[in-house]
Amino acid sequence: MKFLYKNVFWAITILIALSFAFSLVAELGTASPTLPLNEVAAKINDGGITAITVRENTLAITMKDGTAATAEKENEAGLTETLKNYGVDPLALAKVKIAVEGQSGGRFWASVLIPTLLPIIAMVAIFWFIFRQAKGGANQAFSFGKSNIRLFSPSKDSVMFKDVAGLKETKRELEEVVDFLKNPKKFLDMGARIPRGVLLMGAPGTGKTLLARAVAGESGVPFFHISASEFVEMFVGVGASRTRDVFATAKKSAPSILFIDEIDAIGRHRGSGMGGGHDEREQTLNQILVEMDGFERDTQVVVLAATNRPDVLDEALLRPGRFDRRVALDSPDIADREAILAIHAKGKPLEQTIDLRKVATRTPGFSGADLANLMNEAAILAARANRSSITQQDIFDSVEKVMMGPERRGRAISPKEREITAYHEAGHALVAASLVNSDPIHKVSIVSRGFAGGYTLKLPLEDVRLRTRSQFAADLAMMLGGYVAEQEMFGEMSTGASNDLQKVSELARRLVTQYGMSEKIGPIAFGTTEETMFLGHAMGGEKNYSETAATEIDAEIKGFISRAYALAKKIVSSRKKVLTAIADALLEKEVLEQDDFNAIVQSFKLKPIAA
Ligand code: ADP
Ligand code: MG
Ligand code: ZN
Repeated sequence: MKFLYKNVFWAITILIALSFAFSLVAELGTASPTLPLNEVAAKINDGGITAITVRENTLAITMKDGTAATAEKENEAGLTETLKNYGVDPLALAKVKIAVEGQSGGRFWASVLIPTLLPIIAMVAIFWFIFRQAKGGANQAFSFGKSNIRLFSPSKDSVMFKDVAGLKETKRELEEVVDFLKNPKKFLDMGARIPRGVLLMGAPGTGKTLLARAVAGESGVPFFHISASEFVEMFVGVGASRTRDVFATAKKSAPSILFIDEIDAIGRHRGSGMGGGHDEREQTLNQILVEMDGFERDTQVVVLAATNRPDVLDEALLRPGRFDRRVALDSPDIADREAILAIHAKGKPLEQTIDLRKVATRTPGFSGADLANLMNEAAILAARANRSSITQQDIFDSVEKVMMGPERRGRAISPKEREITAYHEAGHALVAASLVNSDPIHKVSIVSRGFAGGYTLKLPLEDVRLRTRSQFAADLAMMLGGYVAEQEMFGEMSTGASNDLQKVSELARRLVTQYGMSEKIGPIAFGTTEETMFLGHAMGGEKNYSETAATEIDAEIKGFISRAYALAKKIVSSRKKVLTAIADALLEKEVLEQDDFNAIVQSFKLKPIAA
């Protein structure tokens, strides 16, 4: 088949070429007589020539009697020069009209040929394309056991370690791997075994894929990457053979790095799958285990893998000799966030006065991806406002956009609804401002965003890993502040507090069952047994505690919440004037920044209360 198509193609091409050549020859055949240059010179001298047109090296000559002739001159020399060498009198030459024509002959041909040739070429191209498609399809059908593993080729804009902010320990670990691949001898001489697998673990957006790309950029050895889901996509039953293929490819070009992204797609606990298709996954996983065992002592292939669910990985993967190195990628702390923001500010015109540290302060819990997104949103905001640079306010506005969705200023809100929202947010803010252990308020707003009617933004002064019981108590009271304020001012509650209540209940449950912060129950962590997974979601496992314990837990949760409620109530009812002042300011300005808010609160000289 293929050969037939090829022949047809060549036949058409040759036909076209032949007809083209033939027409050229035919044209030449009718041409005028060719004169030698010395004769041309002589004719010029006795005035027999009126005009000469030069087309490259061909001279089209018009005689005095109207007939035409041609002549050839040498390549290098100009016409006048050549003729002078043949003894032409300059005065006689001046009487001859000399014109130099560039490609006009070619242009003539193009105007004739393009309309005729173009359709033919187009047809040929279409055929060619169809053949190629058909060919590709056939190949794909026969090679689906082959992986679509990609070889990373280093280029000018490849990522380097310096393009990854923070993550110091992780980088150090990976630098070691890179070093190993660059000078294996140094390590082998010491009898060290090559690290076989490095598992990058971290929440989504913490930079796992980015870091792997940096390793590719730094290492200077072949770097293969594949996403684990590609092992099993499309055709069932090829996962294992693809795995074999992937490892074979990597080994062939050792020393090399093989990067398997999102390995949890196949690396889940075997035997815990629900729904179909997990047999396939198991076989693929088994094959990976086999391949990693099959590395010789000095095989210089390092397998790098990334996951955001290390908890669901099969233990067999984590055993020494496989992914024996595990590095956690932490969410960035304040300094890292500043550094990440700086990296993503590159190439964006920022106003001189911008303080990225302030942005970092406002973004605890943001991942690297969130921060990258944030800078992009800020650039979009500035561009939409037709400004020439990005302002601090653009970035702050984007923080909230990334956190809570875009502002919805346009939504119609009834005055009553607006008033309720104002008091609700004022309630949160007042409780937070009154308690010693609460984090400072950064912003209070009644502009609705995403699903929230309004919001109160309080942020810890620094990133904290540890929170104490009294801080949690303050948090609970603050979360209930909105609910209490509505109750105090309007005598009833609205649905606006439902999200708060849900958060309060979740937090209180964690305090009791995970953090051991209930005196009555004491330092026990309650939880569920191994969760069954379905489509990546926990289906809920069995409780590993008795019904009696469950009753006690519920009572303790309730205790935490009712203490927080009492505290919030005490604050709001005894400081109604402050509450009203905040709410009025909100109704007037919609948004209170930290300084405005503090000014209001300080004017009342509130005494801080301990939770
Ligand atoms: P994941 O951990 O989910 O694989 P990625 O590596 O894909 O996350 O990160 C997404 C994006 O977030 C990156 O392309 C990069 O722009 C940004 N990013 C994440 N972490 C960092 C970091 N430490 N330094 C700079 N940029 C980062
Ligand atoms: Mg990733
Ligand atoms: Zn609320």
